[in-house]
Amino acid sequence: MKFQVFVIAIWVFSLSFASVSARFFPNNITGIPPWILHNATKTAAWDAFTRFAGCRPGERRDGLSKLKRYFNYFGYIPNSPSNFTEDFDDQLEKALRTYQQNFNLNVTGELDNQTLQQIVRPRCGNADIVNGTTSMNSGRSSSLHTTQHFHTTAHYSFFPGTPRWPSNRRDLTYGFLPDNGLSDEIKAVFTSAFQKWSAVIPLTFTQTDSYFLADIRIGFYSGDHGDGEPFDGILGTLAHAFSPTSGRLHLDMEENWVVSGDVTRSSQASAVDLESVAVHEIGHLLGLGHSSVEDAIMYPSISSRTRKVELANDDIQGIQVLYGNNPEFNGTTTANTGERDTSGGVPRYSGSGWGLALLLAVGFASLFL
Ligand SMILES: [Zn+2]
Ligand SMILES: [Zn+2]
Repeated sequence: MKFQVFVIAIWVFSLSFASVSARFFPNNITGIPPWILHNATKTAAWDAFTRFAGCRPGERRDGLSKLKRYFNYFGYIPNSPSNFTEDFDDQLEKALRTYQQNFNLNVTGELDNQTLQQIVRPRCGNADIVNGTTSMNSGRSSSLHTTQHFHTTAHYSFFPGTPRWPSNRRDLTYGFLPDNGLSDEIKAVFTSAFQKWSAVIPLTFTQTDSYFLADIRIGFYSGDHGDGEPFDGILGTLAHAFSPTSGRLHLDMEENWVVSGDVTRSSQASAVDLESVAVHEIGHLLGLGHSSVEDAIMYPSISSRTRKVELANDDIQGIQVLYGNNPEFNGTTTANTGERDTSGGVPRYSGSGWGLALLLAVGFASLFL
């Protein structure tokens, strides 16, 4: 009898987790047994690129075509009519130079360690260069040379054509994909993320249950989800969002998302702070592109176990070009003082153990059964 109960327990448990994709965890991810963490033993999406360390122009190495696809995905190599070769050719070297410029690295055109470490960092799925229009540092070199009085350190960028929400749409609604069945705690993370932006511009964001009528529609998806920008599993691309007035914000369901608490103390190498990514993607929804300023929210990469939720001056300057100033904003931000919000601006779960994680995971799993 006991054996039967045990077997049933195992069956229920395996059923619960068999089709789980998204995982949301409280702060005490350290206390969660590794076998519960999704993909805990899998390597991150781009780790294999580190084996190209020291690879020189003119060499041929298996897998370089994948690295070229990476650069193609993020806008550094234009679409090629044929498949990419395994050669370290001029095309790859040129892409590397532009990439290094954008990420404030030494512009060597080589696969040095510093560059590879940056390449494999998890990041936003939005391209750094859209339709061949350069943004970030690489797109600013000409103005640096031609404008004598170019003293600003601003590196924010916009989408081509500078799309923004029109002046008659200043009070926007946001909704969550009903299929995800997100808890109120997870939704509150987004509420906090929206508040970072509404604090500095005259826009408001209100949650609605009418997902299909919402201005902004937020959903967790796995792999290919129909918009031509498939997610890639653990780390790699974390999320992406569309320019105004599309309103679509998509997050990779397969990440180990940390919903509350101090992600920096997580023992799980692939733990990703949900609010940090949400604040970044909302910047895209509002019309910002990527920035070369590493402290900026709109910098493309964020390491796992990192929390960055406060707008930097670069973010504020960029978004206020699009929408103007919130009259209530006093012009100060903690982002450039070196302080980082590690406690969070929303009520954050402070319980211990993995009981809640299990509840969240099982709750989520049941939606997929
Ligand atoms: Zn981005
Ligand atoms: Zn998508």
